[in-house]
Amino acid sequence: MKIEKQLLAPGIKLKDKMIIDGHTDVLFALTQQRRVFYERSEKGHVDLPRAKEGNVLAMFFAIWPGINQYYILKGTRQLLELVENKKNNLVLVKKVDDLEKIATSGKLGAIFHIEGIGGFDSEFHLLHVLYRLGLRSFGITWSDENLFGTGSSFDPNTPEDTRGLTAEGKELIHEANKLGVIVDVSHLSDKSFWDAIDVTNKPLIASHSSCRVLSPHVRNLTDDMIKAIADINGMVGINFGNMFLREDCSRDAKTPFTKIIDHIDHVVNLVGPDYVGFGSDFDGTLVPDSVKDVTGFNLLVKELEKRDYSLEDINKICHGNFMRIFKEVWK
Ligand SMILES: [Zn+2]
Repeated sequence: MKIEKQLLAPGIKLKDKMIIDGHTDVLFALTQQRRVFYERSEKGHVDLPRAKEGNVLAMFFAIWPGINQYYILKGTRQLLELVENKKNNLVLVKKVDDLEKIATSGKLGAIFHIEGIGGFDSEFHLLHVLYRLGLRSFGITWSDENLFGTGSSFDPNTPEDTRGLTAEGKELIHEANKLGVIVDVSHLSDKSFWDAIDVTNKPLIASHSSCRVLSPHVRNLTDDMIKAIADINGMVGINFGNMFLREDCSRDAKTPFTKIIDHIDHVVNLVGPDYVGFGSDFDGTLVPDSVKDVTGFNLLVKELEKRDYSLEDINKICHGNFMRIFKEVWK
């Protein structure tokens, strides 16, 4: 599908270097690690005080694992209750205007995202209900297989599945396009990825995937995939997980944080600065020790400056490219 490019979202201006992060599993971590969002913790990666210190404007709050209806409903309830608790200083982001308001209010934006939609029905009733509750983004699969398609397995010994997206999966993308929900291709198998590119008529994102040419993990994107995403005006959120950054795909926590910027450099060199941002995977993966947690965004922005990115390009990477996608996909 050919998508007309309109790169600058007119009229949107946020403070310099504010961060929109394409993926955090903080919802899962809060329960696992028995901590509360509004209190600073040494555990995990994300809470309110640390996110503010990292100059974060908004994050995609992933419901994981979205492998069936039970987990999706449980996660939705948890997210809504988190936002309802005023101490958490969160705003559920439903439209672009919300982000512009948050930027001056000192609050943090939560973008309702589901990582895999196992248990969604083929008539899309659940999709429509969750949209009304604030759902603005979803990944079709986690690393599993469901009614809509096949995900990429983490096990390199599992042969790549050739099924790709089902007829229901293709229909689902059209429905999401019409409704104004972002479709996320991170975690799709390669065949499902290309099917998604073929059928969409809105930009797609890979919310938390890095570059396969630098780190040959199946969850990462080949150069052709990155070009295809740029061709439809989508974007890639670079994943901070050690295994997605390293050539040997190991979880070694001594991985230098500069590797994250190497992946950003790679996308920029390939397709320019309009198609890349951050998709940390904080609270869902092991990140370099030097990044530590969400406060590590300060370090990453400094590294972009050190590598002579212009302020305009830094802003695109920090938030501008996501803002463009929101403007183009949400209503
Ligand atoms: Zn993930």
